[in-house]
Amino acid sequence: MSIVEKLNQIKSSIPGHVRLIAVSKTHPQEMILEAYEAGQRIFGENKVQELCEKQKVLPPDIEWHYIGHLQRNKVKFIVPFVSLIHAVDSLRLLAKINQEAKKCNRIVRCLLQFHIAEEGTKFGMSFEEAKALLQSEEYKSMNNTQLCGVMGMATRTQNKKQISKEFAHLQSYFEKLKSDFFADDPNFTEISSGMSSDYFSAIEKGSTLIRVGSKIFGERTYLHQ
Ligand SMILES: *Cc1c(COP(=O)(O)O)cnc(C)c1O
Repeated sequence: MSIVEKLNQIKSSIPGHVRLIAVSKTHPQEMILEAYEAGQRIFGENKVQELCEKQKVLPPDIEWHYIGHLQRNKVKFIVPFVSLIHAVDSLRLLAKINQEAKKCNRIVRCLLQFHIAEEGTKFGMSFEEAKALLQSEEYKSMNNTQLCGVMGMATRTQNKKQISKEFAHLQSYFEKLKSDFFADDPNFTEISSGMSSDYFSAIEKGSTLIRVGSKIFGERTYLHQ
């Protein structure tokens, strides 16, 4: 199947309120353009340098989502154009994004990343850490970032029950934060969850943004790892 056919197949199998992020990391511009020409506008990358190189040469109406772990010293490179930063996992990182966004006179949309997987290796905050962030004076004084929801990654496993339970946790965090901190904020609407192997479970647990890579572009080969 071609990229276009795969995109159409995924889009026709998800509800209308769920947006598809085409995760193009490691794949060349030509493949991104193929998806773009089929109407795809949201792309996700997880390396700052790779994202910046692609952004420079690809069409300006692409919405770039940064989905990887972000180091504070690299924030300045993506803040001028990024449309959503998915993986904010500390107050220090959010403060840095706010500081750089102010310099470009932008309000940068971000999601809080939660640790929902059983594996110890995945990044993300606990609910308590997120609450502390939201209650801090520093957060309350930020004018150049906008928190729009939550993000999480489930454990890599075949066990559907476990995956479903982890996505349900993310959904409950979203709902608690919405009622406790964002009740009057119409921008707090997103749950970013679900990848090629588990996006159906994610959608059942409220996902509004699915991040799909290999199911569109095929397997990735990493040159340096
Ligand atoms: C690579 C990546 C994805 C996409 O993974 P696939 O299994 O290829 O769909 C989704 N989310 C994040 C954070 C990623 O790094």
